[in-house]
Amino acid sequence: MNEQGYNFTESEEILALRTSVRRFAKERILPLARELDESETFSLELTKEMGEMGFFGVLIPPEYGGQGLDYLSYIAIVEELARIDSSQAAVVAVNNTLGAGSIYYFGTEEQKQNFLPGLCTGEGLWSFALTEADSGSDARSCKTTAVYDSTTKEWVINGSKIWISFSSTKISKGITLQAVTGQTADKQPELSCFLVPINTPGLAVKSMKGKMMWRATDTGELYFQNMRLPAKSLLGEKGEGFNIMMKMLDRGRLSIGAIGLGLAQGAFDLALEYAQYREAFGKKLCEHQAITFKLSEMATKIEAARNLLYKATWLRQNSLPSEKEAAMAKLFCSEVAEFCAREGQQIFGAYGLIKEYPIERFYRDAALLRVGEGTSEILKMVIGKHICNA
Ligand SMILES: Cc1cc2nc3c(=O)[nH]c(=O)nc-3n(C[C@H](O)[C@H](O)[C@H](O)COP(=O)(O)OP(=O)(O)OC[C@H]3O[C@@H](n4cnc5c(N)ncnc54)[C@H](O)[C@@H]3O)c2cc1C
Repeated sequence: MNEQGYNFTESEEILALRTSVRRFAKERILPLARELDESETFSLELTKEMGEMGFFGVLIPPEYGGQGLDYLSYIAIVEELARIDSSQAAVVAVNNTLGAGSIYYFGTEEQKQNFLPGLCTGEGLWSFALTEADSGSDARSCKTTAVYDSTTKEWVINGSKIWISFSSTKISKGITLQAVTGQTADKQPELSCFLVPINTPGLAVKSMKGKMMWRATDTGELYFQNMRLPAKSLLGEKGEGFNIMMKMLDRGRLSIGAIGLGLAQGAFDLALEYAQYREAFGKKLCEHQAITFKLSEMATKIEAARNLLYKATWLRQNSLPSEKEAAMAKLFCSEVAEFCAREGQQIFGAYGLIKEYPIERFYRDAALLRVGEGTSEILKMVIGKHICNA
């Protein structure tokens, strides 16, 4: 869309970028995806290779070591990776938006110079720690505390976080942490954010295993015991923490939406190919009307999801209000992903129920999309707030 009206064509730069990401995903990720999923392994090697491809620091300007690309390019990269494997798409999405993004959008010049260059190459990852054992969707009910010690001019942190992506890998460099720093005038917890290098004494990290989806991503539990941080570790202003976390989640919804869209497209690609060679009752599956209808419905929903996601991304790129559209895009793309993974699996029949065929992994990976970075129920509350208060 531009000033003259609607324009649904992608620029030549984005088309070329898509081609190169697609080639990389097919040649480098696809041959490893099943084994990494089965063995629940986070691949340092693939992360490094994705760094060499320029998939980290995509939105970060070159003066901090990033690629300085726009939002549409970033979303296209995530979509193309998810078309082959959601786990590798998640490595890129979480680290670009929530990890490096939180430092880039809210950090001081010193914090950006300090941390960002190491996060734009794939040699270091940064996590975003909001969720606690008793505080998920209701992120304001956070229990982790940060108390200022005025004698040493340090923050003393106590508490724990759970489900924190990429916090227990060898190449984790640190986390953006939300903690309670006091009480607001209306007696609510005052929340603030901190940048925590991973080797800070008092921080213990435990790897979480046994996930049904995103099995080639890393997930950790964090424990803080009298962990001391210098005053300059505060990210943004004291008391601004919840606002920072919500703004980052709003941006993150676009990239999780892109994982949903890519997964849906990937499931469709697999199902179409299978329907074109598998035969039943003397003809190809795709010549049976019931199967053609499945593929038609999948393709139609994918087209609708793509338009919604890229419209929300375009709004974000042009600094226009996009909170409602980003929530709609993430909600809808995750529903379309689950629909396409299920219908794709049905087209594969029994072969959709065995790990030998990637559609089985797509089916499991789709489940994360209605939970991570705002559950579907919470997204409907966000959308409802906009419609009812309009
Ligand atoms: C693989 C993975 C990676 C993750 N990575 C991160 C990460 O990097 N950083 C991070 O901070 N977190 C991360 N999370 C956590 C994730 O963001 C939370 O799981 C999510 O926010 C939901 O919280 P919860 O699981 O505690 O569910 P709860 O908040 O307990 O919700 C349980 C159910 O109740 C519903 N519900 C809750 N409140 C309401 C309401 N008011 N109205 C209606 N329904 C409601 C929810 O929609 C959900 O269906 C990750 C999770 C997973 C699985």
